[in-house]
Amino acid sequence: MVHSRARRNRKEKNNNTLTIKEPKTMANLRFEVVAEAFRKKPLEITAPSERPSEYFGKYVFNRAKMYKYLPVGVYEKLTDVIDNGARLDRSIADAVAEGMKRWAEENGVTHYTHWFQPLTEGTAEKHDAFVEHDGKGGMIEEFSGKLLVQQEPDASSFPSGGIRNTFEARGYSAWDPTSPVFIIDDTLCIPTIFISYTGEALDYKAPLLRSLHAVGKAAAEVCRYFYPDVKKVTTNLGWEQEYFLVDESLYSARPDLMLTGRTLMGHDSAKNQQMDDHYFGTIPDRVQAFMKDLEVQALELGIPCKTRHNEVAPNQFELAPIFEECNLAVDHNMLLMSLMKRVARKHGFRVLLHEKPFAGVNGSGKHNNWSLSTDTGILLHGAGKTAEDNLRFVVFIVETLMGVYRHNGLLKASIMSATNAHRLGANEAPPAIISAFLGKHLSDLLEHIENSHKADLFVLQGKKGMQLDIPQIPELMIDNTDRNRTSPFAFTGNRFEFRAVGSEANCASAIIVLNAAVAEALADFKKRVDALIKKGEDKVSAIVDIVREDIKTCKPIHFDGNGYSDEWIEEARRRGLDCETSCPLVFDRYLDADSVRMFETANVMHRNELEARNEVKWETYTKKIQIEARVMGDLSMNHIIPVATHYQSRLAKNVQNMYAIFDQAEAARLTARNVKIIKEIARRTQTIETGVEELVDARKVANKISDERAKAIAYHDTVEPKMKEIRYQIDKLELLVADELWTLPKYRELLFIR
Ligand code: ADP
Ligand code: MG
Repeated sequence: MVHSRARRNRKEKNNNTLTIKEPKTMANLRFEVVAEAFRKKPLEITAPSERPSEYFGKYVFNRAKMYKYLPVGVYEKLTDVIDNGARLDRSIADAVAEGMKRWAEENGVTHYTHWFQPLTEGTAEKHDAFVEHDGKGGMIEEFSGKLLVQQEPDASSFPSGGIRNTFEARGYSAWDPTSPVFIIDDTLCIPTIFISYTGEALDYKAPLLRSLHAVGKAAAEVCRYFYPDVKKVTTNLGWEQEYFLVDESLYSARPDLMLTGRTLMGHDSAKNQQMDDHYFGTIPDRVQAFMKDLEVQALELGIPCKTRHNEVAPNQFELAPIFEECNLAVDHNMLLMSLMKRVARKHGFRVLLHEKPFAGVNGSGKHNNWSLSTDTGILLHGAGKTAEDNLRFVVFIVETLMGVYRHNGLLKASIMSATNAHRLGANEAPPAIISAFLGKHLSDLLEHIENSHKADLFVLQGKKGMQLDIPQIPELMIDNTDRNRTSPFAFTGNRFEFRAVGSEANCASAIIVLNAAVAEALADFKKRVDALIKKGEDKVSAIVDIVREDIKTCKPIHFDGNGYSDEWIEEARRRGLDCETSCPLVFDRYLDADSVRMFETANVMHRNELEARNEVKWETYTKKIQIEARVMGDLSMNHIIPVATHYQSRLAKNVQNMYAIFDQAEAARLTARNVKIIKEIARRTQTIETGVEELVDARKVANKISDERAKAIAYHDTVEPKMKEIRYQIDKLELLVADELWTLPKYRELLFIR
């Protein structure tokens, strides 16, 4: 819309003619944007002449570049920090900064920024130029270790849940050397954590790093029961990013998409995803051009893109990289999301990362494939060659389940948001109850261990080591084809796939909780095993005892059935799993005594940080619904009702005309249908009007509440339901009103033009 008008103006100016055109009606504009979108051709992308392996990481200060641009001693100290968690020696910071600057300048970089992840859904950056006064009236390019290591971005407007009001107003960003710096355009981006003056985390990265440390330490200790030489355990994350693309012209004619990221109204398209013809279908040319462009840029930034395909809903797609160390994977996902938005615009698309942009078709998630590995291999990998391998495998599976079981409500809280709430429990994607799917092989295996006597289960055979009567863990399990799409947390061969994560979310939110929960379970496991060993029990026997006990304890979390069925909700309730669906109430789980204890023991977060974050969560929830409600009110009054009454008048005019032409009886017969529609429009617009008034009133009442939690609950209970009622009426009107008058691009246009 914006485009075409601007182009027209330009043309008129160039011709030096001043013709005043009839103002177009909004409906004309809809046809105009539809036609414009339809005509767009794929952008011609010139692919790089090198192979991907050659340009991979081109704009990343990776190992090879560190080696090239840093003095040997500095390189060694820095890699020691990255690989072994050694303390950062401030004395090397200047040399590192100097090397980074040299590399960056060779790539045309003039600015640098601390790049961090505040408690909004995006990333934050504030660019500073390398220039400094040279003391002689001129300027020089400078970048010191001090500037690399720490900054005070005075980012006082980010949500902090009160931490920065009650303590110290300052927020600091501090360099995370474990995630390499990278270049975007003319700017050197330095991944950092963001913390308050008093050390509270104000971001996602700081607690993520603490949780990685916690689970790594706990896992390494348990690992040493089996492999005494294990040095460290790392967490892996492979995310799968789902998204929608919408043509930019159509997008610009949908104020709801622009302001809220989703359509607040819109009748189902007659055809949507019924035929399953989009899933894995041929990728449309314009989309393919976008994907290629995106992939090249992502690879240059070191994001190992691997998979791309059409998703289930029309205009829905997915991109997945190869899994990486978790901290890096999280950064890469944040980076990719912002990159997608930029590249999409270049191709005349808008990317929708919202979890539910369109009612009636699938929403978007971000499966988080999570696993632990040692310096020698993956811990959740089944097909071990030795009895030790098999027992180790069972231990890590069962203790992950223990963590998920004990904190199932909290895990749900970690993925819950105003936007993801549309997806959860909506008969698609994962249900709003966290359970774990194990598949037949693994279920049988756990059952076997649970039911067999210890003496039968294993025998110690002198020098040969132990023999376990654990049924052979088949190679097949690695490629677990028994895939249950309805489970929010599924074992898929060598990893768990946390599927409930929202497409827009920072993966860190879910992973922080998962790591902390598994860290707690492993530490607790070790404590109990050690206690038995101390009492004189043999190590393997002690491990089997405790594992068997835990298999029994965490049984309620294990569910291989259909997660969408009503029976499951009843069953889950009986099992004591968290079944809450109200988003503001789900957030309460963060402040449960068990949760606080878990976070504090693992040193991931402390009570005041958790309280502050919950304030932010409730406030964000309220604001999102508030914005939606306002947009809903505006669209109802400014688009829908005027269009509907306009059509109604047209029909009324026709009725009048008919009476002028035909006799009473004949006219009555001929206009019956129109009269019926006139009445229906009157009824529906009236309901919408009252609905909007009630919506405004409900908001006014809620806005007076000062407690953030209570306010969010009010928005959930009284504001949101009103929007559903209004939408229902609007969608009915869409079917009733003449197509040529309707101003908002329809679902069939938004979802099918590409
Ligand atoms: P799907 O589950 O839809 O088949 P893909 O195979 O495309 O998905 O993606 C699965 C993701 O899981 C990829 O990012 C892949 O790298 C990642 N992955 C594979 N093995 C592991 C593992 N052991 N730990 C973590 N992530 C893994
Ligand atoms: Mg997957």
